[in-house]
Amino acid sequence: MTAAHQKARALKPGSPRPAKALCSECGLCDTYYIHYVKEACAFLNQQFDTLEQQTHGRARDLDNWDECYFGVHQQMMAARKTEPIAGAQWTGIVSSIAIAMLESGRVEGVVCVQNSESDRFTPKPVIARTREEILAARVNKPTLSPNLSVLEQVEQSGLKRLLVIGVGCQIQALRAVQDKLGLEKLYVLGTPCVDNVTRAGLQKFLETTSRSPETVIYYEFMQDFRVHFKHSDGSIETVPFFGLKTNQLKDVFAPSCMSCFDYVNGLADLVVGYMGAPFGWQWLVVRNELGQEMLDLVRDQLQTQPVTSAGDRHAAVQQSIPAYDKGVTLPMWAAKLVGLVIERIGPKGLEYARFSIDSHFTRNYLYVRRNYPQKLAAHVPAFAKKIVDQYQLPAQ
Ligand code: FAD
Ligand code: SF4
Repeated sequence: MTAAHQKARALKPGSPRPAKALCSECGLCDTYYIHYVKEACAFLNQQFDTLEQQTHGRARDLDNWDECYFGVHQQMMAARKTEPIAGAQWTGIVSSIAIAMLESGRVEGVVCVQNSESDRFTPKPVIARTREEILAARVNKPTLSPNLSVLEQVEQSGLKRLLVIGVGCQIQALRAVQDKLGLEKLYVLGTPCVDNVTRAGLQKFLETTSRSPETVIYYEFMQDFRVHFKHSDGSIETVPFFGLKTNQLKDVFAPSCMSCFDYVNGLADLVVGYMGAPFGWQWLVVRNELGQEMLDLVRDQLQTQPVTSAGDRHAAVQQSIPAYDKGVTLPMWAAKLVGLVIERIGPKGLEYARFSIDSHFTRNYLYVRRNYPQKLAAHVPAFAKKIVDQYQLPAQ
């Protein structure tokens, strides 16, 4: 039986998108589900309350700071695989869960993103049906990725039980159309996401920041306040955040990511990141029963420990606001010094996650206020406004 829904013609690659410059290329408009774009697009219709209610049975509790920051959840923990997957972004918890979901028969396919044959950073969304296809999607493609572009294939191939792996903007649109996909069961495994870029933007970032852009295999903004680049010869290069050439990088991040407030992927069933965990560990946020079911499947492959929190982020965030806003760059020696001091006395564990959320939400709030003033009130969700209101922002 096909799902009852309206169809419209998908847009051609490269043609203007309904969200215009704010489009994150989530992939929805590459399918006939573009019919629902006005309601479904994360950048045209902010609707966290409705979608949290639909997904978790309630919206996040704004009187509870942990929910304000990390979304609806049943539990959080730090975890790592006892036997990490080689070549995964961290220890490979995401890929392991996807494999377990498939091999236990809970799902028939997994939406995930491999890379194109010619370029390790060009995303290629697929519906994986085997362990090998899931493993071929391991490691971040640090670029906007049209994961939802495969949704038409879901319906056409008659899949009834599906796992989707994705970042916040993709999952917001997915949640808005999930009833139209003809599925009996949908699981959503999310990762946090911030500061994403187009493929061209990625090139600029690598060229302005790394000593050897062409050999970078992957990178991550780490809890030690440095960007870590891993090169193809196995060497690790680190660059302090505070030494990033913010004046040149100001326009590198995609406008969608400069106006996003879903860093922690509030609509996924389970979120796997790193920023609320000690260095080397991953950070898990179980939002609902489906998330718990996915975690239970791989529990015996994991070492876990409780999440912790130390330090006070507020002063560091307040000081970072003008630097982000004006694109100030510190000389490298000063950047290393600031990085060292902050690492010694600065926010750790969940407080580091709050530091990163606060810095990005304040920056993004200013970006939307400046560039899309008419969207500000409706686009910024109440939880983000509450977070931003802790800080003094520059006048207009
Ligand atoms: P792996 O087992 O290596 O699997 C990675 C999975 O991610 C794959 O299944 C793949 O399909 C999917 N994927 C890869 N690229 C994309 C993409 N562009 N869009 C959608 N899905 C993708 N975590 C934090 O805690 N803080 C952050 O600031 C943060 N920023 C991130 C920014 C980006 C652009 C991305 C993609 C992820 C980010 N994460 C962040 C998540 C983190 O880097 C890891 O992806 C996560 O911890 C999973 O690691 P793993 O080893 O379990 O994943
Ligand atoms: Fe379409 Fe997604 Fe772009 Fe919105 S973000 S315009 S839904 S492709």
